Amino acid sequence: MAQKGAQILEMARKQVDLVARYLDVDQGILERIKSTKRELTVHFPVKMDDGSVRVFTGYRIQHDDSRGPFKGGIRYHPDVDLDEMRALAMWMTWKSAVVNIPFGGAKGGVKCNPKEMSLGELERLTRRFTWEISIVIGPDVDIPAPDVYTNPQVMAWIMDTYSVFQGHTVPGVVTGKPLELGGSVGRHEATGKGVVITTLKACEYLNLPIEGARVAIQGCGNVGSIAAQYFERVGARVIAISDSKGGLYNPNGLDLRAVMNCKRRYDRLLEDEVPGAEPVTNEELLELECDILVPAAIEGVITKENAPRVKAKVLVEGANGPTTPEADEILADKGVFVVPDILANAGGVVVSYFEWVQNLQELLWSEEEVATRLENILKRSFDEVVAIYEEKKVTMRMAAYILGVGRVLKAHMLRGIYP
Ligand code: GLU
Repeated sequence: MAQKGAQILEMARKQVDLVARYLDVDQGILERIKSTKRELTVHFPVKMDDGSVRVFTGYRIQHDDSRGPFKGGIRYHPDVDLDEMRALAMWMTWKSAVVNIPFGGAKGGVKCNPKEMSLGELERLTRRFTWEISIVIGPDVDIPAPDVYTNPQVMAWIMDTYSVFQGHTVPGVVTGKPLELGGSVGRHEATGKGVVITTLKACEYLNLPIEGARVAIQGCGNVGSIAAQYFERVGARVIAISDSKGGLYNPNGLDLRAVMNCKRRYDRLLEDEVPGAEPVTNEELLELECDILVPAAIEGVITKENAPRVKAKVLVEGANGPTTPEADEILADKGVFVVPDILANAGGVVVSYFEWVQNLQELLWSEEEVATRLENILKRSFDEVVAIYEEKKVTMRMAAYILGVGRVLKAHMLRGIYP
């Protein structure tokens, strides 16, 4: 998998080279933002339930903090590697910048398979990993959050471990916490909800009715499952959804309640549990006849090989980096309207920002306050990106990069080089 990580990083760097053509940029600063600022790799032992000790490898990669503290999730996955972390950290920087929240970008992760670990093993892994990276995180330095296969419980362990070593409770060191521990209302659903908010903006812009629109979603985690439910609420039809093992399809729309019950019960999607559903592979799902396609799982799934067969009118990137630059060109030629990841899935980090602000100020905002602020930020950002898209006649991704990378470069220029 090391090779896949290298490809993902190459893709992230290529996107910066592509946007550089549109920006007045110093070559040296460009080199700097194509690399990460600081990288921590840790190898650490964890006591397993059978009494053995296993050594895990983890990372906290800090890409840029020119606009504010580093920010980004922590991922537990067998494919986690250094290059993948570097790319994901870079995308966090552009994401914070495109929605204009005062954060930089970072990412962390541990190479492991949490599905094969007990709760106790996961807790010990999380606590030891937190201790290992505690030299580079902190509420005004670098603030982790959930990502693939991590959740509010993992964030609670991170907060607790960090706090124990500080000698007092530090809620602002991590976001995506349980509500009982300083988590924000609306954080858990923020990414999936943001995907739907930006999709609605895209449909409005393109004059596509959302009522009855056919949506195919790859991924049934925090982003995919919640987006599916919001899509249903706004009148769209979710015709397909998948998890890492495969998916379900019904051209007339899936019974989402049955889908979610099945996922909860068996941790997989079984056609026998959902009336009228037939199985679909993750590859087939991306090529289904649909109006809106939402990759909401992992990177690099839409490539030059399958992009010619994508039939959706709108591609909304719930995942980070699902589309390669070669696929981007093909989609642009086909006239597919792309809502790029750094805009489409920014809802999560936006509400993370709200959570952090509430923690630092010891405030508790209402659900309505969080929802209104999230909607305003995403809608405004979408409009700003579309304005560049129209003015410069570039793709939506390039427009988002012009805005996001442009803001980061401006921050570097204003700050200057010191010492
Ligand atoms: N992991 C999420 C992302 O990729 C959220 C990061 C955060 O809230 O800091 O955007």
